[in-house]
Amino acid sequence: MSEDAALDEALKAAHIPTLMLALVHLTGDAGHLKDAPPLVYEPLGDGQGSLPPAYQETIRAKARDAYLAHKGGRPLAANPPPATLRAMMDFIAGMPIPEHYVPFLLEELAMDGADPKRPAPIAPKLKARGRSLKVLIIGAGMSGLLSALRLKQAGIDFEIVEKNDDVGGTWLENLYPGCRVDNPSHMYSYSFEDNHVWPYLFSTQPVLLDYFRGVAKRHDLRAHVRFGTTVDEARFDEAANVWRVAVRTKDGKAETLVADAIVSAVGQLNQPRYPSEIEGFGAFKGPAFHSARWDHGVDLKGKNVAVIGTGASAFQFVPAIAPDVAHMTVFQRTPPWLSPTPDYHFPTSEGMNWLIRNMPFYDKWYRFWLFWMGTDGIYEAMKADPAWDGNPRAVSQLNDDMRTLFIELMKMQLADRPDLVEKVIPTYPLGGKRMVRDNGVWLEALKRDNVDLVTDKVARIAPDGVVTADGKLHKADVLIYGTGFKASSFLDTYKIYGRGGVELHEKWQGDARAYLGVSVPGFPNFFMLYGPNTNIVVNGSIIFFSECGVRYIVGCLDLLAESGAATMEVRKDVHDAFNARVDAQNARMAWGSPHVSSWYKNALGRVSQNWPFPNVEYWQATLNPNPDDFVLDGAKAKAAA
Ligand code: NAP
Repeated sequence: MSEDAALDEALKAAHIPTLMLALVHLTGDAGHLKDAPPLVYEPLGDGQGSLPPAYQETIRAKARDAYLAHKGGRPLAANPPPATLRAMMDFIAGMPIPEHYVPFLLEELAMDGADPKRPAPIAPKLKARGRSLKVLIIGAGMSGLLSALRLKQAGIDFEIVEKNDDVGGTWLENLYPGCRVDNPSHMYSYSFEDNHVWPYLFSTQPVLLDYFRGVAKRHDLRAHVRFGTTVDEARFDEAANVWRVAVRTKDGKAETLVADAIVSAVGQLNQPRYPSEIEGFGAFKGPAFHSARWDHGVDLKGKNVAVIGTGASAFQFVPAIAPDVAHMTVFQRTPPWLSPTPDYHFPTSEGMNWLIRNMPFYDKWYRFWLFWMGTDGIYEAMKADPAWDGNPRAVSQLNDDMRTLFIELMKMQLADRPDLVEKVIPTYPLGGKRMVRDNGVWLEALKRDNVDLVTDKVARIAPDGVVTADGKLHKADVLIYGTGFKASSFLDTYKIYGRGGVELHEKWQGDARAYLGVSVPGFPNFFMLYGPNTNIVVNGSIIFFSECGVRYIVGCLDLLAESGAATMEVRKDVHDAFNARVDAQNARMAWGSPHVSSWYKNALGRVSQNWPFPNVEYWQATLNPNPDDFVLDGAKAKAAA
């Protein structure tokens, strides 16, 4: 195809609001933004901000001329001045963006093509003090690889220990049919990597595993990983100010590694939670496995399959396997909210990829748009209005309006099966639990002749099936647990002994808390990623959160180098005040509602998972560690060996 023809095809696929901003870069003229009809985004709208088709055509034609002129030699306009950039942000968001978002969003935009979160070198500071600093990263998943890259860029000595034989973490372990991410690919990706050609709008598990393998390879990180090595315990040696970490290889070889600091990047939703509370658990005689430990050796074709759970994992594997099995019984305790996402399984189009590759700044603004629309742009709908006295199944007028819309959409899908309506419509507020991306395949699967949705309580697991509270035996050949993860048991796979030999889990007593999800008093130079209260629920990509967390941790290491202190640990009063603020805000969110039980809450009923504030607040809080938040132990600064 000629370049002109490719351009014309691409323009047909363009996201027009994004194209309008690319046009500003091409021409230096932002006048068309002022004359444009206001963008109105609706949950089931065209994604184009409801711009009239004729207007869209005008923009395509202008963009075509401007792009060809640029290709013909006209240079790009200079980067827009701050006021214009601000107007561009407001325009594409379809609303005025609050002022304090501007620096945050500017960093996301990274207009100059640089990597704004790249750390400054720390090595020279260490050298000037004649010090060394060795960091042990635990885990080579998304966060561990990111930590490794940033430490490498800062010139800090590090090593990664990974229990698996490959990188990728959750994307290596979750191999169930239909597994894919529920964040758009252009957002569920590192900000500093080329973000061009994704095969799908929402990446599948194999695509993401390839991506993380590619990142590890491109940045030469694999050489730093000890694969197939499990951490059993980490113990802080107060006399030497180092961590001693007991590791074990698969063939049983034990070793103690020594490090000045630990970055724990062990993930959080990766320890399967089996429903051992159900009577008869373990009695089933046929193959039984968890979604995250999928047994691909079991041929499901023609089998009677029982599935317990209807969370995000079951939501994906049930539609994927339903056509193959003879019969499937899905046991649902609580229905999920379905967030309308018609393009959830769509491949990216050639046109979209062309624009992202070729149209100046299109990739940046497209990511920015996804970021805003999918994150803080919808946060407000999940916030509880303290004055709300309407529908008790909602937490605010906005939340209730969205609820009504979502229910209508579910009912439309069930026009031919009204018997399912009551079963699948949640009675808890929207946003109370993780919403799942709906393109229709879930309800289609439940409507199949060979699928039954059972909402009676599971009473017992029998050798040949599942017995419900009404005494009925639902016979099955295979039992699949879609019962989620031991989410509240943070860092559950190893013991961590801090000052005075205190073990972290014993300190937590089932109620994990940390400062900014990263550090805990009494555990010097120990930093966590995806720690307590850093999970985002409705709003955003965990990769963004990891990027913030890693920047903060590298900032902490910089503080150690700068100050000459051997150790740093967060002050208890700072930690406690932060947690009080988090708890108060979580109580004001849909997921904090007393009518909701979910894995966001621990056994004590406290929301230990969720970051309850807008994303911008985590970004701000993690820009730089405040030295006043920490006890810096300067007396014991360690001289280089
Ligand atoms: P989950 O959301 O915790 O779902 C577990 C399901 O099992 C729930 O429906 C739960 O019911 C049910 N369950 C648990 N114990 C039960 C019992 N004894 N009897 C009957 N039902 C029982 O787990 P998940 O689906 O694996 O997802 C976990 C998280 O992983 C997600 O929220 C998400 O953050 C992440 N994830 C993301 C994706 C994605 O990106 N698309 C995909 C998969 C997972 P209740 O609701 O009543 O507790």
